[in-house]
Amino acid sequence: MTFNDLNLIEPILRALQEEGYTNPTPVQEAAIPIVLNRNDLLACAQTGTGKTAAFSIPMLQLMQASAGKQPQQAIRCLILTPTRELAIQIGESLAAYGRHLPLRHTVIFGGVPQNPQVQALKRGVDILVATPGRLHDLIQQNFIRLNQLEYFVLDEADRMLDMGFIHDVRKVVKLLPERRQNLFFSATMPEEIQKLADQILRNPLKVEVTPVSSTAEKVQQFVYFVAKPDKRKLLDWMLRQKMGNEPVLVFTRTKHGADRVAREMQKMGHTAEAIHGDKAQNARQRALSNFKSGKTRILVATDIAARGIDIDQLAFVLNYELPNVPETYVHRIGRTGRAGNEGTAFSFCMDDEKPYLKDIQKLIRKEVAILETPPNLVSEPVAVAVFESKPVQQQNRKPMNPMPTSDKPKNSRNNRRRRFWSKTKTAQA
Ligand code: AMP
Repeated sequence: MTFNDLNLIEPILRALQEEGYTNPTPVQEAAIPIVLNRNDLLACAQTGTGKTAAFSIPMLQLMQASAGKQPQQAIRCLILTPTRELAIQIGESLAAYGRHLPLRHTVIFGGVPQNPQVQALKRGVDILVATPGRLHDLIQQNFIRLNQLEYFVLDEADRMLDMGFIHDVRKVVKLLPERRQNLFFSATMPEEIQKLADQILRNPLKVEVTPVSSTAEKVQQFVYFVAKPDKRKLLDWMLRQKMGNEPVLVFTRTKHGADRVAREMQKMGHTAEAIHGDKAQNARQRALSNFKSGKTRILVATDIAARGIDIDQLAFVLNYELPNVPETYVHRIGRTGRAGNEGTAFSFCMDDEKPYLKDIQKLIRKEVAILETPPNLVSEPVAVAVFESKPVQQQNRKPMNPMPTSDKPKNSRNNRRRRFWSKTKTAQA
């Protein structure tokens, strides 16, 4: 199938051609006709599947079809998304796909002065992309009214839950007019998210693509069993010997860890920057654009900061620390091998992280290939872990392995994220 088969209008087809897109991704193929038919949509799709275009393209088309029939200043579409980076990325996608349409959009998020955002709102926007906190602030100050809204997109709903935004989302939904079209995107469907979907959506059609456990399939995955003091040398060796001159996205569990790894890599002669929630918005943007332009080779990120990082053709992802939530591993490695490209993910696994690896292998239903650390880099040997591989029933999974007490989170909401869709299909929800 090509985009020409999806009944899209010429200005959008032209923009897609200019973007270099020819074939829709599976989520786009399934979702675009549903949205164009004015149905509500419940989509299980994660970053990297082309989900942004899956909601942006048909919405732009519907809005263009009825343009000019609304009050001048009315916000017609709200796209609510958990992170600033994702909001910016959605704004860029709207600008790209809608470049030949007269529809106006703006992006609002916290951590920066509100005045330029307020000025943009005053000039009038058709589409508002927002993170929940700043949206709330500006609603309270009467800069935003949502009473004329026609389209509501909730992006990465499960991430909203993880980040503690679910109440803000509920408050926003209460302000929306009854008559509206809703598009709901989530990578996973834990119970609380399903409840939220039931509250927001009306007779939705459901699109289930690329279950979280199968996105991992197109990424080659390797693990090194390595002690903490040896990680630095191993990464340095990999950067020099295994990864050509390619950029590498490195993940750590903590902000502190991200800063430390970036500093260590700089000391070893590499260009590296860290990106995490404690950094000012402009510092995060600068680090991201340095990485995208090739000025910085290594971007060290925490999971939350990494949401929304959109880098085409990223060849390598490295888990400097394994995540304690197996789904996070899949999100991380999904940053490589995007839009059909091949990618490679390496992980470092310490002794006390072996239970995490076990959970990850259960989720992805395969074993991660083990690589041997070059002996001259080993100061403290770590035994190779071999796990029994049994297929698991996702619905009946037992609680995850306990974490080392040192980094147990205070509120492990992720423990509830258990249920996954497993097939690609479209059905009445
Ligand atoms: P997303 O899942 O929305 O974060 O998109 C992932 C990446 O795929 C982005 O870099 C998009 O620009 C790219 N992309 C989305 N749809 C297509 C398509 N149909 N063809 C090629 N690239 C695409």
